[in-house]
Amino acid sequence: MSYVISPAPIPAVPVAGSTDSFPVRRIYCVGRNYAAHAREMGSDPDREPPFFFCKPADAIVPATQGSATDVAYPPETANYHHEVELVVAIGKRGRNIAGSEACSHVWGYAVGFDMTRRDLQFALRDKGRPWELGKAFDQSAPIAPIVPASRSGHPTAGKIWLTVNGKLKQQGDLSDLIWSVPETIAHLSTYFELLPGDLIFTGTPEGVGPVVRGDLLAGGIDGLGELSIRIV
Ligand code: MN
Repeated sequence: MSYVISPAPIPAVPVAGSTDSFPVRRIYCVGRNYAAHAREMGSDPDREPPFFFCKPADAIVPATQGSATDVAYPPETANYHHEVELVVAIGKRGRNIAGSEACSHVWGYAVGFDMTRRDLQFALRDKGRPWELGKAFDQSAPIAPIVPASRSGHPTAGKIWLTVNGKLKQQGDLSDLIWSVPETIAHLSTYFELLPGDLIFTGTPEGVGPVVRGDLLAGGIDGLGELSIRIV
């Protein structure tokens, strides 16, 4: 059997401290998973069940080593936002995963940015339309190297932050997640069978805001390193 066109390359994220890579199958994202961010988006952060959206696997932009990674300012927006997030990398297949078993399905963790065309997202949201144009565009998922859970453990607390041109914009703590990583995996796996290669962006703390060409973004999570991108 031969393909009639060349198959697309497999999107992959480098593994921290290694020459190996983690191949990406799907990208799931959790909406509004920190109370203060839910409020700044105009929502009531009661503990309603988590909701999810997706990005295509090839939306990832793997970090380049030793310098900021170039990310192109996307078309059709005038309000392009940063969202720093804990990213979970799934390493074991499962559906209807119990919260108590969820960590055994996690291969590793990374710092990622859920870049967002906020003007489009809000316009779509207000019309009850899907979010793809606002969330699932090219280069919308820059991501730092994945740290194996065998090295990081399974973090339940720790600072998460983002600066723009050296100024602190977002700051939170993983302990402030409305839905923890195990709870998120438990919920998501009732809707989808999770497979090795899936990434889950777990939501962003408060302080999201716009960036423009030339801005330097740096984000980090205690114990998981940092991600630095330049908007070009
Ligand atoms: Mn997000």
